[in-house]
Amino acid sequence: MTADVSIRNATKDFGSFRALNDVSLEISAGEFIVLLGPSGCGKTTLLSILGGFLEPTSGTVLIGGRDMTHVAAARRPTTTMFQDYALFPHMSLLDNVGFGLRMRGLARSERHRKALAHLDLVGLRMSASRKPHELSGGQRQRVALARALAVDPDVLLLDEPLGALDLKLRRQMQDELKAIQRRVGTTFVHVTHDQEEAMAIADRIVVMNQGRIEDIGLPTDIYMRPRSLFSAGFMGEANFLPARIIGAADGEVRVETALGEVLLPAAAFAAAVPPAGGRITLCIRPEHFRPAGGAEASVALGRASIIDSAFFGGHHRCHLRPEAAPDMILTAHLPQTAQPRTGDLIDLAVAAASVVALAEAPASTQGD
Ligand code: ATP
Repeated sequence: MTADVSIRNATKDFGSFRALNDVSLEISAGEFIVLLGPSGCGKTTLLSILGGFLEPTSGTVLIGGRDMTHVAAARRPTTTMFQDYALFPHMSLLDNVGFGLRMRGLARSERHRKALAHLDLVGLRMSASRKPHELSGGQRQRVALARALAVDPDVLLLDEPLGALDLKLRRQMQDELKAIQRRVGTTFVHVTHDQEEAMAIADRIVVMNQGRIEDIGLPTDIYMRPRSLFSAGFMGEANFLPARIIGAADGEVRVETALGEVLLPAAAFAAAVPPAGGRITLCIRPEHFRPAGGAEASVALGRASIIDSAFFGGHHRCHLRPEAAPDMILTAHLPQTAQPRTGDLIDLAVAAASVVALAEAPASTQGD
C-alpha cells in the first residue's frame, strides 16, 4: 500500500533549541524521497515526527489526507527501519519477519505466507529457518526491510539504514532498495548524510541545513541547478566565484569577477537577476571546465597554471591557479585524454549553460 504525505509548517523546539524550523514538504504516494544533510540538520527529527515518535511544537502532518499530527506511532500507517536492524537473535528469519503480523493478530498460516512472500522479495526465502547470527550484514539488512514491509505500511521511514555497511555492500543495497521500492510501490522516506547515496536512490532529494529545507528536486536538478550555495556545496564539489552584476540586456547578464568580466545567459540565475551592483556567486562544477575555443558556447576565464593533478580513471582532477587572481585555487576535471603537468598553462573556459549564478555571497566575502 502507499499514501501521500504532507508536512505543513512543522517546527520542533527542544527547550530553547529549534531543531526544525517551519518545514513544509509534499510527498506523492509511491515516491522515494531522501532527506539529505549534515549531522544535526534535523533529518531524524523530521522522520520521527512523520513516524509519530515526536510531536511537532507546531505544524501538521497528513498521511493519506488524514491528520496524523497527534496520532501515536503504533496507530499510524508507517513503519520505521533503523540502522541497527533490531532483529530478535533467538528467532528464525521467518518469525522475525512475521513478528509484526503476530502482534496484529494474524493467524499462523497467513503470517507464514506473508513472511515467506517478503523474504522472497528480498531474496532470502531459502534461508527462512536460519537465525540472524548466521547472516552477513547485508542479509540482516534485507531481513529488517522484509520485516518492515510485511505489515504493509503506506509509508516506510528509513533512518540511515545503510550506514553500518561497507562501501561496496552499501552500493549494492542502494540498488536493491530502489528496485524493491519500485516493486512494492510504498512511499519511502530515507534519511542519509551521503550525497552519493541520495543520488543513487532518490526520486527527489530534500536538502536540509540547520532545521530548514534548502532545496528540493530531482537529483539532476539539485546537482545541476542548485538553489543555494549550501545545496551546491553539499551535493558535490563546486568552485564558488564571487561576482558583481554590471547590467542585464537581451537575455544576457554582464558580471564582474576576479577573472574578468563575463557574459552569462539570464537562465544561469536560479532566481530573479539582482540589480546592477548586486553581489552574486557563480557556482562551477569541476567537470564543467572546458578547453577554450571549443564548439559549445562557453565563458572564457583567462589563463591558469596547473598546480597539481591526479588521475582518477575517468578524468584528471587538477588544481589550477588563475593568472588574474593568483590567490584563488580552482578545482577542474580535465578529460581522460589530457596530459596535465604541473606548471602547464591552460586557457580556462566553462560551458555557458552549466554556470549557476546564486544571489548569495560566500560567507568569507560577505560585507567586504
Ligand atoms: P544525524 O545525522 O547526526 O542523526 P540529524 O540531521 O538526524 O543528524 P537530528 O537528530 O534531527 O539531526 O537533530 C537535530 C538537532 O536537534 C541536533 O542538534 C540535536 O542535537 C538536536 N536534538 C535532537 N533530539 C534532541 C532531544 N531529544 N533533545 C535535545 N536536542 C535534540
